[in-house]
Amino acid sequence: MAHHDLLIRGARVIDPAQNIDGIHDIAVKDGRIVGVSDYASDTADRIIDAQGLTASPGWIDLHVHVFDGAVTSGGVDADTQAGIATGVTTVVDAGSSGAGTWKAFRQYVVERSQTRVYAYLNVSLMPSRGPRHGSWDNFSQGTTIQLAEAEAARGLCLGIKVLASQRHCGNLGIIPMQLARQASRLSGTGLMVHLGEAPPIIEDVLELMDEGDILTHCWKGVYGGLLGRDKKPLPETWAAVERGVKFDIAHGQSSFAYDTARYAMDAGLPVHAISTDIHGGNVKGPVYNMATTMAKFLHLGFDLPEVIRLSTLSPAQLMHKDHEVGSLEPGRRADITLFHLVEGQFPLTDAERKTEIADRNFVVDYTVLGGAVVLEPTDDEETMPHVSL
Ligand SMILES: [Zn+2]
Repeated sequence: MAHHDLLIRGARVIDPAQNIDGIHDIAVKDGRIVGVSDYASDTADRIIDAQGLTASPGWIDLHVHVFDGAVTSGGVDADTQAGIATGVTTVVDAGSSGAGTWKAFRQYVVERSQTRVYAYLNVSLMPSRGPRHGSWDNFSQGTTIQLAEAEAARGLCLGIKVLASQRHCGNLGIIPMQLARQASRLSGTGLMVHLGEAPPIIEDVLELMDEGDILTHCWKGVYGGLLGRDKKPLPETWAAVERGVKFDIAHGQSSFAYDTARYAMDAGLPVHAISTDIHGGNVKGPVYNMATTMAKFLHLGFDLPEVIRLSTLSPAQLMHKDHEVGSLEPGRRADITLFHLVEGQFPLTDAERKTEIADRNFVVDYTVLGGAVVLEPTDDEETMPHVSL
């Protein structure tokens, strides 16, 4: 018999890293996972009776905007809107901060949030609402490369973010993409590329991407995405898949279309992470939160273990943090999301403002972060906001 800090009893545990999907207990000690097993005779300081609930590794949202500062207005709060209050234990800020604002981002967001926050550093010094990369004045490669390398060593920076779209690149075309790739390679960090409307054209963008680089907004519903006129993946898309380029959803305000999703699924195009791109402009719909985005994947026909894998283990692997988060293997950080599915009729709207009726939705019951219970059910039963039009 052993004594633990926390015991979660009798949940359906889904942990793709260990191929676990069954009724088990989860034991936690000193902020880390002890194991997933039968701990019927063990004791704990806190016991959660989780019969009827599903337990997964803490959810990871690979694409959020949580820098709600003066320069990048439009972010959301890391804890109450993007993170632990919604079942998400790890968020990745996708380039809300460049080198010019990084210190404020670290001080006022990363260090003050309970939710684990990682980030991609914007290739531009001062990303703002206007064209983010549209001027030579907004780049300082030496500063960006040095900062990315230093902040990666601290475990915070995952790589460089660039928005490869006409709206963000202005008259510089492919040049910001080239600068981002150079900064990524010279700092030894990753690369996340926003897919938008040309210029630059997607063929040129993909050509600059290698194994492990992440293309975000992959199921965007515009001309000039990963699909050609015949609604099938471009040859350049398949070549990128072959090289090991990864695809991230990043739903957002204008970047997730049911139509594109079904064409991509029919073609067998892989997807590597479900994420929200949550910010001030979509938190009240159509995104709402991670759970709503995950419900859209159940609606599209992904089974629950696969939805969980794409929201835990797979993004952790893309981040190269799977030794810490994304699974319930012994020794991992004890980040756990406990939820149940409700049946009914849920209108879920994509980023093209197309609404489909889903028959299942997620309700988050508990969030456990590093072994601490940071969200639990209220008397109102349901802790998640209802989806409404
Ligand atoms: Zn974004």
